[in-house]
Amino acid sequence: MELNEPDVILDTLKHEVAHALAWESDRSVGHGKIWKQWVIKLGGAPRATGRFEVPKAKWLMVLKQDNSLQVIAERHRRQRNIRQFLLRGQPATKGKLYYIERAQFDAWSQGKLSLTEAELWQ
Ligand SMILES: [Zn+2]
Repeated sequence: MELNEPDVILDTLKHEVAHALAWESDRSVGHGKIWKQWVIKLGGAPRATGRFEVPKAKWLMVLKQDNSLQVIAERHRRQRNIRQFLLRGQPATKGKLYYIERAQFDAWSQGKLSLTEAELWQ
């Protein structure tokens, strides 16, 4: 909401409400004919994709190896327990995946925070 103009936000809401209505009226999913009818009825643009800004994810999943961190994925939410996680086809990475807040990762990558000071979550 903070990153987009009101018309973009309103169009996104119409897009999503059209999904709900398509489901309720016809058990229809996706951006097919039923969804298009609903979104047009709501005054929205019948497009599957939009142009909008999304916030950066707060959490980064990182691989901790050789006293270094490598970003694997960005996440808006942190899963509770990733101790058993590993990278596909790389059994040696089991137990080496952590979450770190983006701000801490940035501080670490700029040399302002050591790995022992950083809060890593599994
Ligand atoms: Zn959609």
